[in-house]
Amino acid sequence: MEIVKEIKRLKEIIDSAKSIVFLGGAGVSCESGIPDFRSNLGIYNQKHNINPEKILSHNFFMNQPKIFYDFYKEKFLYLDALPNPGHFYLADLEEIGKLNTVITQNIDGLHQKAGSVNVIELHGNVYRNKCVKCSKEFDIDYIIKQANPVRCDECNGLVKPEVVLYNETLEEDNVINAVNSIIEADLLIIAGTSLNVYPAAELIRFAKKKLLINLSRTSKDIFCDYVYYGKFGEICKEISLKDNWQLYLKVL
Ligand code: NAD
Repeated sequence: MEIVKEIKRLKEIIDSAKSIVFLGGAGVSCESGIPDFRSNLGIYNQKHNINPEKILSHNFFMNQPKIFYDFYKEKFLYLDALPNPGHFYLADLEEIGKLNTVITQNIDGLHQKAGSVNVIELHGNVYRNKCVKCSKEFDIDYIIKQANPVRCDECNGLVKPEVVLYNETLEEDNVINAVNSIIEADLLIIAGTSLNVYPAAELIRFAKKKLLINLSRTSKDIFCDYVYYGKFGEICKEISLKDNWQLYLKVL
């Protein structure tokens, strides 16, 4: 493991890769104002009456949907959040043909907002919602406007956000596509994730070379070829393909 300290060296590692895949987590969106789970200010370290892991489980959703929705709408819907330089940098790498796939554990849709096209959302997306009874689909406006718990306007069934809750399995196609894209790439950039959530964390073992960019240490740093500690968005400003990263803001 090489601890990379200089931006110049980091740029060299990325420049010398021909095909890159990115695997990211909640930390990537922290600089867009969305808290992660496990940092000091993260959702798990805030005061709650009920353990968030319990609320975010399939059984809890089915049995206590009102409490689930109260928590979910307050803590997970950041609909005004904008992509940060980290999201934009990845979209630029894809545009020039260097990056094949963004694999994200995030459910906020910010990679697509920044312009990334080939995005695998391992844990789903808050913008898609479906009735558990009749499968009618609902957009995010419906979710916001309805009282909790959100029910289907056709059959009165519960409407469930298409996000993967604890005790639910990931979509098989997403996992297969993620594994294949990592196997084919010559560099996996991992960022903004504690690598505590499985099976997402397991994916890194399929990579030929791993570059981790994270604010804090993870239990998997030693399995990475290169490790850089810092804020992903800040770092991406430095290695940005645009002369002035503020140009990004005009795109929105
Ligand atoms: P996590 O909270 O377990 O870990 C976040 C990691 O990101 C930490 O190691 C932290 O040090 C690092 N980090 C924080 N800010 C950073 C920054 N600016 N730059 C680089 N690193 C930074 O998150 P996880 O590993 O993604 O796993 C938790 C689960 O949380 C995921 O399943 C995800 O779906 C869900 N989640 C998603 C969102 C979102 O969609 N934005 C927000 C919160 C939680």
